[in-house]
Amino acid sequence: MQTLFEPADPAVAIELAQKVIALADRCKEKFGAMPAFMEVCGSHTMALAKTGVKLILQGHVNLISGPGCPVCVTDQKQIDAMIEVAESDSRIVCTFGDMMRVPGSKRSLLSAKTEGRDVRIVYSPLDAVRIAEENPEKEVVFLGVGFETTVPVLAAAIQMAAHKNINNFSMWATTKLVQPVLRTLLSVKKVKINGFLLPGHVSIVLGEQAYRFLIDEFRMPGVISGFEPVEMLSAIYKLLKMVDEGRPEIINNYKSVVRAGGNKTAQKMMNEFFQPCDESWRGIGMISKSGLEIREKYSRFNAKEKFSIKIGEPKKTPCRCGDMICGLASPEECVLFGKACTPLHPVGPCMVSTEGSCAAHYAYMRKEG
Ligand code: SF4
Ligand code: SF4
Repeated sequence: MQTLFEPADPAVAIELAQKVIALADRCKEKFGAMPAFMEVCGSHTMALAKTGVKLILQGHVNLISGPGCPVCVTDQKQIDAMIEVAESDSRIVCTFGDMMRVPGSKRSLLSAKTEGRDVRIVYSPLDAVRIAEENPEKEVVFLGVGFETTVPVLAAAIQMAAHKNINNFSMWATTKLVQPVLRTLLSVKKVKINGFLLPGHVSIVLGEQAYRFLIDEFRMPGVISGFEPVEMLSAIYKLLKMVDEGRPEIINNYKSVVRAGGNKTAQKMMNEFFQPCDESWRGIGMISKSGLEIREKYSRFNAKEKFSIKIGEPKKTPCRCGDMICGLASPEECVLFGKACTPLHPVGPCMVSTEGSCAAHYAYMRKEG
């Protein structure tokens, strides 16, 4: 990835950064507070830190990391449930690599694996279907986490299992939807921001029209952005202009890949296999209709129905991931940051995921000493 200091066209990036800073300072003077924008995509969290955009705008624009990383927002109870699923010798649990180290109440899937449970990392849920095909004597359970970007792939795995009649495959789906959480952040959590840097990948599926409610219900501007320094700076500049002029809009600054109505094929796949359900978010709690569950028609692939696993209450820890997700704290404000909690020994999910705000801050913005 490019850094702001080594961009393909340094002159453009530097000129744009200067324009952003000048406009941000003008807004600060005009409104008496530093403009604050929230990104709700883990890839933006990492790109803003890694490319130096966040550092260069420090003191001018407050860039807050919201609930954009699927690993970080996965409730501890779901990890506990998956560990319980893995306890049986007749089962294989499969998941994405990042999920392995996420702490549950007592331990992680990685520690369960170290203790002899059959827990495997896969790169795609389709790999889990193949593992089920190769191990007909075992039940193979895939832990399906993700936002709208991932759900069509989860749907494809169920479709493949149904097509091939692989009935020893099932999915523990704990997926998340962007619109309900944005609404909750604004209406319940009352986050203090001036606009959203809207996710590039999720928007490919949803389309720009999906964010119309931000204007209609909250008069909150948003700009859909790509991940290169110039793209992110340009999106932040457009957000600042809307704040300055008091003219909120949803702007698609990623037109090369995001269409107004999104990707209809992906939406169709989602709707065929999944339906909305209430979902619990780590650090936020239950949000109505903020997740997707497997439709009744495909319930034989629903691990939550196939196995009787009781979902318990999460353990209280000093980890402040919940506050991070809501933009109420920065990593350095957590007493564990860089001490008890590091990427090697993560206490909370924000430090586990490579796209977590604590991990990004630790890698690129940590104050030495
Ligand atoms: S530093 Fe660690 S413990 Fe603190 S909020 Fe981040 S992940 Fe949680
Ligand atoms: S856990 Fe960290 S990266 Fe994930 S959403 Fe929360 S703050 Fe963002």
